[in-house]
Amino acid sequence: MAKIFCVANQKGGVGKTTTAVNLAAGLTRIGQRVMLVDLDPQGNATMGAGINKATLKVSIYEVLLGMSDVASARLRSENGGFDVLPANRELAGAEVEMVELDNREKRLKDALSLVADDYDFILIDCPPALSILTLNGLCAANGVIIPMQCEYYALEGLSDLVNTIKKVHAKLNTDLKIIGLLRVMFDPRMTLSQQVSAQLEQHFGDKVFKTMIPRNIRLAEAPSYGMPGVNFDPGSKGAQAYIAFGAEMVERIKTM
Ligand code: ADP
Ligand code: MG
Repeated sequence: MAKIFCVANQKGGVGKTTTAVNLAAGLTRIGQRVMLVDLDPQGNATMGAGINKATLKVSIYEVLLGMSDVASARLRSENGGFDVLPANRELAGAEVEMVELDNREKRLKDALSLVADDYDFILIDCPPALSILTLNGLCAANGVIIPMQCEYYALEGLSDLVNTIKKVHAKLNTDLKIIGLLRVMFDPRMTLSQQVSAQLEQHFGDKVFKTMIPRNIRLAEAPSYGMPGVNFDPGSKGAQAYIAFGAEMVERIKTM
């Protein structure tokens, strides 16, 4: 049965989608069966996997509202080699419409449970907010991967996220834990990056992943080709780091 992980951080632009897409591709390269779930109305993970969000017949929106199921909505990312449960801006409407529904925090969990045997990993790319959509991600997951940039303000937002995860753990999903913090867009030449990175290690210990993702232009270029960076330029430093991160995740879940 699949292990399910959210890639979450309520800040925008911190590397959630890049991490979700490239971890999906990295895990696929080492033989894991993966589905990437796009839970952000911006649909960036969908596009980054090479799927056109503008022409979807069914998406995660219909799944959350009970009008379709994952098996009908998922698509194959040819460039990634994994499945995608795609999203587009329609999903923004779900936030409002779900308020009326029963069991509204657990709709994604229930939907994913029907396909859990098809995969080793299900990765959920969360939107940049602690919204009902993110709550659905956290309720469905075994754990959270938190990407963060090693800059001063990164630590500030972290406590809100950690508190939300604690509340969800207490009230809605006792399975949920922080799998780890992933340092992304890392620039070892910056003293501040080094300092924040050291602070993170001090505070969170081995919850900080060993792999660091460097700032790498090839990772940023890849989405415009509809390709995960890992497959766009497998030899690049960014791709290599995400492949190593995939291997670290496989190791880490052995002890879960
Ligand atoms: P989020 O999903 O948290 O909003 P994204 O993954 O979309 O963040 O990343 C924000 C921007 O930073 C994007 O333009 C992306 O291409 C770029 N980016 C992310 N990670 C890296 C990296 N390691 N090196 C260079 N650019 C990156
Ligand atoms: Mg994103």
